[in-house]
Parts: sequence; C-alpha cells; structure tokens
Amino acid sequence: MTRTPQVVVIGGGQSGLAAGYHLRRLGLDFVVLDAGTTAGGAWQHMWDSLHLFSPAAHSSLPGRLMPTQAGQEYPDAQHVVEYLTDYEKRYGLPVERPVRVLGVHRDGQLLRVETDSGTWHARAVISATGTWWRPFIPAVPGREVFGGRRLHTVEYRGPRDFAGRRVIVVGGGNSGAQIAADLARDTELTWVTRRPPRYLSDDIDGRALFDAATARRRALDEGRTDTGGVASLGDIVAVPAVREARDRGLLAANPMFSHLVPGGVVWPDGTRAEADAIIWCTGFRPALSHLAPLQLRGTRGHIAIDGTRAVGEPRLHLLGHGDWTGPASATLIGVGRPARDAARGIAELLT
Ligand code: FAD
Repeated sequence: MTRTPQVVVIGGGQSGLAAGYHLRRLGLDFVVLDAGTTAGGAWQHMWDSLHLFSPAAHSSLPGRLMPTQAGQEYPDAQHVVEYLTDYEKRYGLPVERPVRVLGVHRDGQLLRVETDSGTWHARAVISATGTWWRPFIPAVPGREVFGGRRLHTVEYRGPRDFAGRRVIVVGGGNSGAQIAADLARDTELTWVTRRPPRYLSDDIDGRALFDAATARRRALDEGRTDTGGVASLGDIVAVPAVREARDRGLLAANPMFSHLVPGGVVWPDGTRAEADAIIWCTGFRPALSHLAPLQLRGTRGHIAIDGTRAVGEPRLHLLGHGDWTGPASATLIGVGRPARDAARGIAELLT
C-alpha cells in the first residue's frame, strides 16, 4: 500500500515533533515516521543520572513550556520523555511507530520513502533522525585488541555495573565529564581527554550555550567576524554532579593515550593503565544513511544545506543534527526556530 501525505517527517524525537507542530499550524498534511517503539527519541536511552543542563523553562519546544520537575532545577531524562510524550498527544501529531525509513528516493515529482512497513510518497521530506544512533569511536591503534568491556556513551547506564572496577573514560565533552563524575566515587577511574578539560564558568548553564550559538549564526549571516560560538565558552557545562566531583578532586584528567593493549592503555612515554572497561564518550555522527540514495553527502558526513533545505534536493530539509542545521538545533529550545523555517519553506514550495 502506498500512502501520499504532502510531507513525510522522518524521526519522532524532539526535532520531528517540533517540525510537526509547525506543519500543523500551517495546515499541511503530514505524517511522522519513527523507528522507536515509544515516544521520546534519544532521551529514552540516556544514562540514569543524566540531568538537563538548562532549567525546564529553557528546554521547551514551540507552543508548550516544559513543566518544572518537582525538587529538580535541572530535569532528568525521564522528565523529558514524559514531556515529549505529552507534547505529541496534546497536539495530536500523527506519529507512526515503529516505522524505520530505509531509503528516500527521487520519484518524478515526488520523493519516495521506503520503510520496513511499506512505502510513502510525499512532495517534501523533513529528516530529523538525530545522532544518537551513530556513535563515533576514533580509530585509536589497538582499539580492537583491548580485552575488557568496551562501551560507547550510548550503552552506559550507571555506576552499578562497574563498582570496584578499573574504568577508563575517554572524552572531554559533557558526556565524558558527566560519566566520569558518575563513576568517580565507586570505581578506580582514569579519565582521559585530548586536551585539558575546559569547564564553562560555574554560573553558566545551557542557556548561555543557546545564546552563544545564536549570536554566532547572526554574526556569520551578517558577514561579521566569527564569535566562536559555543566552543568559545568551553566544552563542559559544570552541572552540579560534575562540579561536586571536580571540587572534591575526583576529576583529574590524563592526556590521550597512544594505543590499547589487551589489558589496558599505554601512553607515548610507556606508562600503562590496566583496565577492566573502557567507555568511549567520543561523540556521534549524523544518522543519515536513509538519505544515501539521494547522493547528497558532502564533507564530514554532512549534507550541504541552505538554512535547513538541502542544496542538492530542495524538497528535503534537515533538522536537529547539530549547529550545521541551525544554531543549537540539536537542543530542545534551539530546534523550534529551524523547525518553523523548514515548515514555512515547504509551505512555499507546495504553493
Ligand atoms: P533524536 O532524539 O535522536 O530522535 C531521532 C528519532 O529518529 C528517534 O526517535 C529515532 O528512533 C528516529 N530515527 C532514527 N533513524 C530513523 C530512521 N531511519 N527511520 C525512522 N526513524 C528514525 N539538549 C538539550 O536541550 N539540553 C540538554 O541538557 C541536553 N543534554 C544532552 C546530553 C547528552 C548526553 C546528549 C547526547 C544530548 C543532549 N542534548 C541536550 C542534545 C539533544 O537535545 C539531543 O541530542 C536530542 O535527542 C536530539 O533530538 P532529535 O529529535 O534531533 O534526535
């Protein structure tokens, strides 16, 4: 059976829902196809102790403020899942689950969306599939010979699995710092970062990141000097758990090791650390394999875009993968504006 809404949104996480909100406001006929079995996108899979780095009111999608969570200035991931579940229901967004998109193809005037549950044809597609589904681990020599447990951020749940163990955490971003802080008390922790950790000042939270990303985009759009954006502020938001571990001296960072051996890691000067587990908190790449048939891939796995619209396929918009699809567009508060722009762009195309 072939279905033909005007627009197919791929991905029913926060970005897909924000797109749905604006498509609905513009009166367009659309469907959201989501590979997950339940609402909440990546937030359903984050580790137990994770809290947002911004207060609820600054973590809201268009139209509805995130309610505060009792006793928590910074809500936890479960609270975000509940918010997204409610958001989807409140606006009656037509999300089909689980439907995995396998490929998007040009098909005359339409785009053909092939899934594991049939085929859709649409006049436009918004791809909002995030990054969580494509964990990245750098090609460090010996990565495959290490004999202990090997995990990426996406597989980490909490310290109980590692009590008393020798654990190496790799990565100097927010995930690395937070997971290192989570493990610092109960494990024999070695934290490894490519450069010395750069904490944002303690009184700054995710709100400042959003402002910095927006200011950078504005400066670039207006041809002014690059402000440096979020990177100019630091790499790590000093959320309460990180601040506490750091201030207690539990977060000493080591430089990057040169290679792995079956029992652990080795630094260039020959120093060794034995390990039972290594956790790679080394980031993600955009999950775009379903767009491969359109042959749009450019540098660093990104697709060339103008605003949110793909340069090589004007019926396709991308949302939420990172700053390259809009300032702070991979955050709850940041995705609203690019989602609105994408919906407006599609409305213009369809008229
Ligand atoms: P996702 O949440 O990944 O949703 C994508 C959806 O697409 C998923 O439901 C997935 O099942 C589906 N999908 C994927 N591939 C397909 C396919 N082929 N076919 C159909 N469906 C598909 N942001 C903040 O605002 N505040 C924070 O404090 C914050 N903390 C973060 C902490 C961590 C550790 C991480 C990793 C991110 C954090 N972020 C934070 C960033 C951001 O909010 C998330 O990355 C967010 O999940 C991105 O939403 P999304 O909808 O773009 O992608």
